[in-house]
Amino acid sequence: MLTIDLAAIQSNWLKLKAIGANAAVAGVIKANAYGLGASKVGNALYAVGCREFFLASLDEALAARSFLPADAVIYVLGGIHSGDELLYIDSNLIPVLCSSSSVTAWAKANIRLGTSAISAIKVNTGMTRFGLDIYEFESLCADMDLLRAINPVLLMSHLACADAHEHPLNQQQLNRFINCVNLIHPLLPGLRFSLANSSGVFLGDKWHFDLLRPGAALYGINPTPHIGNPMEPVVRLSLPITQVRELDAAAVIGYSSTAVLSAGARVAVVSGGYADGLHRTLGAQPAGYLSGQLVKAIGRMSMDSTIFDVSGLDVRIESLLEQEIEVINSSLSLDYLSKKNSSLGYEVLTSLGPRFPRSYLRGLHND
Ligand SMILES: *Cc1c(COP(=O)(O)O)cnc(C)c1O
Repeated sequence: MLTIDLAAIQSNWLKLKAIGANAAVAGVIKANAYGLGASKVGNALYAVGCREFFLASLDEALAARSFLPADAVIYVLGGIHSGDELLYIDSNLIPVLCSSSSVTAWAKANIRLGTSAISAIKVNTGMTRFGLDIYEFESLCADMDLLRAINPVLLMSHLACADAHEHPLNQQQLNRFINCVNLIHPLLPGLRFSLANSSGVFLGDKWHFDLLRPGAALYGINPTPHIGNPMEPVVRLSLPITQVRELDAAAVIGYSSTAVLSAGARVAVVSGGYADGLHRTLGAQPAGYLSGQLVKAIGRMSMDSTIFDVSGLDVRIESLLEQEIEVINSSLSLDYLSKKNSSLGYEVLTSLGPRFPRSYLRGLHND
């Protein structure tokens, strides 16, 4: 069972809102809200005041348009593919224009349709992924007709190293972004600006501008890895035990017989394996808690199941059946697991497979 605490997500959002002071705070709910359920999470955020949402693709954004209230503002980070313009306009979705070709396409669509549908512009200030390069941005700013035709409401950029608070790129990206702001602000005085993702919020006020774009921190991933995690934990994962046995003789365990246990040892087989992303989430040899006691996986993880050595437990073996082994909880936190497996909290969450039943702990003002 994957338990998702909507109230914790809400309080994480409110915490960022308090840190952001005058800045608005969006909710980044792309990739199905990092695997936690974009509809539940999006509506929980809406219930505490979030009105702006970022999705990755047109498909994700169309889904969000159907499950979020009508006044939700929805941005699509992946930009537009030509031919999709009308769908954006009809569904009131805001494309984040990331390249000169998408700027041109949006302008043309607005001119052709006689509309002035709004957009966001993204500049590349140092991450070298999506975004207009600075020289492209400068030529856009020199073409007032083109700028009017794309009707931008937001200028944004994305930080590459905000989780490394002392990395010099943070200041460099800020400086480059400020140059862009100074160039375009006189041309479009109403334009808003946005630079910070979750970790960027914690770099300081200078990085905040008008709109914060946190994803990870909402979901309990530590935005400040150099100090403790200021966010509340959001997820718990427990795997049901489907079979138990006590070995009457020494035996090899699992595929390729990588492990051996001696007579008298006890094992428990749980539902959940690498097809559920567990090798990425928990590592090849997960640990877990069973009735508050630490147990370890043994042998090679299977596609649909994992075997735990439960020899040390002082309980009747039959009583273990139908119990659950907790593999993500306050002791086995996202921070701890990602360090142990040299992965990222982002990967831990987005690897959680769709086969885990989801259970939502209720949020504030929210069903
Ligand atoms: C994913 C994403 C975010 C959210 O980043 P977090 O590190 O999860 O807070 C913000 N902005 C853009 C452009 C993104 O792609």
